[in-house]
Amino acid sequence: MQHSNGLIKTRYTIAIIERHLNKLVSIVLLSLLTISCSCSDTSSSAHLDTLPKCSPIVVVGVDGLEWDIILPMLAEHKLPNLAKIMQQGSYGKLETFFPTLSPVIWTTVATGKSHEKHGIHHFARNRGQENLELYQSTDRQTKAIWNIATDYHKTVNSIGWWMTYPVETINGVMVAQTNTNAQFDTRAGKNIWKGSLVKDVPHQVWPAERQAEIMSIYQVSQRNLASITKEVFGTFPHPLGELDKRLWDNCQWAFRADATYLDIALSLAAEPSQADLTLLYFGGPDVVGHRFWRYMQPDRFTHKPSTQQLENFSSIITDYYVYMDKAIGQLRSAYGEQATFIVMSDHGMHAINSDRPFNPDAPPSNINSGDHQDAPPGVFFAVGPHVKSMVYDASKKALTRDKLRTICSVMDITPTLLAMMRLPIGEDMEGRVASTIFKDDFQIECQPDVLVTHDTAAFVESHKKRANLRRQDQERIDQLKSLGYIGR
Ligand SMILES: [Zn+2]
Repeated sequence: MQHSNGLIKTRYTIAIIERHLNKLVSIVLLSLLTISCSCSDTSSSAHLDTLPKCSPIVVVGVDGLEWDIILPMLAEHKLPNLAKIMQQGSYGKLETFFPTLSPVIWTTVATGKSHEKHGIHHFARNRGQENLELYQSTDRQTKAIWNIATDYHKTVNSIGWWMTYPVETINGVMVAQTNTNAQFDTRAGKNIWKGSLVKDVPHQVWPAERQAEIMSIYQVSQRNLASITKEVFGTFPHPLGELDKRLWDNCQWAFRADATYLDIALSLAAEPSQADLTLLYFGGPDVVGHRFWRYMQPDRFTHKPSTQQLENFSSIITDYYVYMDKAIGQLRSAYGEQATFIVMSDHGMHAINSDRPFNPDAPPSNINSGDHQDAPPGVFFAVGPHVKSMVYDASKKALTRDKLRTICSVMDITPTLLAMMRLPIGEDMEGRVASTIFKDDFQIECQPDVLVTHDTAAFVESHKKRANLRRQDQERIDQLKSLGYIGR
């Protein structure tokens, strides 16, 4: 389904107006509510060092997770870990906005602000010109949740999140999703703009002394990639044709990135002291969704895949959902039941190019059969000591899409996390606290202050310095590239 641009803009404008109203309501609510979280008490004037220790929060961002795929799989009991979260916690649709570009939306998720404020407007700037440059962390013009948590002495780990290359100085571990211009114009081709870890590029791990250890996890995923994909998808019964090989090859980097980031998250969870907040990103469901929708729903397409193609690929998307569900189960076990766990996607997905013939030599957008340009809603799941149970019972009547509530929006994740950590919310944030997910007795006891902004003068100054780092880093990358050291 495609909306006209005018309709989308109108919808977007209405959404902005609603958001401002919501923000006001949210501020009023925050002033009235009293949270009795399991944190020990502290007064609002508490010194930073005496802020209460809350139960850890883990946010798993999964690109492109779609309810229309999840619902039938739930009915067939194929996603037991998501079903468990739904039995114990809250779930529903997550509102998103146009344009559904990953760097833009995932930065909104981490800042509570639209791209006009956070400054990441697309994958790359100077589009259509020769000197095209990928956006990166140094282009972000506002603090992200990991900067704010650091300011308040909370520990925070960020693994594979969008727009985190080069990494920032935080009170925890940051593992970049690396997008470099060097990757961009090498054999990766101009169409692979999502990042992963890249061999021999500096500034991918904070603190820097942990880069070698983290890169060794990447190397294990690289070495085991064939066995990882065999475990997830099995063995294809037929040899791959030219188009299918191209689609399959274009997914390998995403499988490797997800396996790497999962192992890093599990390894950090096993450390003696868990971070107050962990952010983790998986990109695979979006990537397989773009490439293989036609094989999952052939009846929606005029040019259907052959029987052999279907036997190879009809379950590739659902197999990956099963893998993601298993990863969520592993993460919940690793972080413990006391952790608050949020699983969310930046948007849903659906079929596209339904009348188009699929030619192996066509540009990537023409061989994709799934997309999200009209901003279909994403998914939201939350479970934890203070999250309300919406009592999903998988054994009863199957849940249908019309019964799903809209819980909140991608703008609301950062304000909600700040409220859970009892940290101040910036008045310049456009999101609100998703208070409907909390139990009635979970009230704001250490009521967060509302600041005008978290972006202090010192931050603005350091932002300028980080922008300068971009130039220096590019010089280093160009040097490594000329020496042939940069690989994917
Ligand atoms: Zn996508």
